[in-house]
Amino acid sequence: MEEKEVKIRYTIYQTIEELSKEEQLLLEKAKIATKSAYAPYSGFNVGAAILLENGIIVTGNNQENAAYPSGLCAERVAMFAASSHYPDIPMKIIAITANSEKFEVNFPISPCGSCRQVMSEYETKQNQPMKVILMGSKGDIQVINTISGLLPFMFHADELKQKNI
Ligand SMILES: [Zn+2]
Repeated sequence: MEEKEVKIRYTIYQTIEELSKEEQLLLEKAKIATKSAYAPYSGFNVGAAILLENGIIVTGNNQENAAYPSGLCAERVAMFAASSHYPDIPMKIIAITANSEKFEVNFPISPCGSCRQVMSEYETKQNQPMKVILMGSKGDIQVINTISGLLPFMFHADELKQKNI
């Protein structure tokens, strides 16, 4: 028997001014993206903005549906748009934020498991880290330098191939 441990490193910032200008702009784009979210059921508007290696910013927001599973999170809307329009351009940073008409979102919004899996696969595909910036509508900002910190045991199709599954 061997016990192992996974550690993750992340940074908390108290004010947006502590981020780089590039990161501040990206977070601002994510906030703007929340305004066009389609979230009539949850009232929870999420925005995501991705900075690509070529400097282009791609945004997305949550798109809900009366048939709940048919909707999609802001992170995946943004990532799928980025990958479909710029398939070979790495995603350097993704900023995610949210607000709600029902309560104050004063804590960093963390992506769901499905979005983490998608982020992980793109990070693996591009072979360079994707930084994640998380913020509510106010409060602390959480920065994680790589998706592997958010999903240490991601599902890899390559591993299955190696095992001939
Ligand atoms: Zn999600």
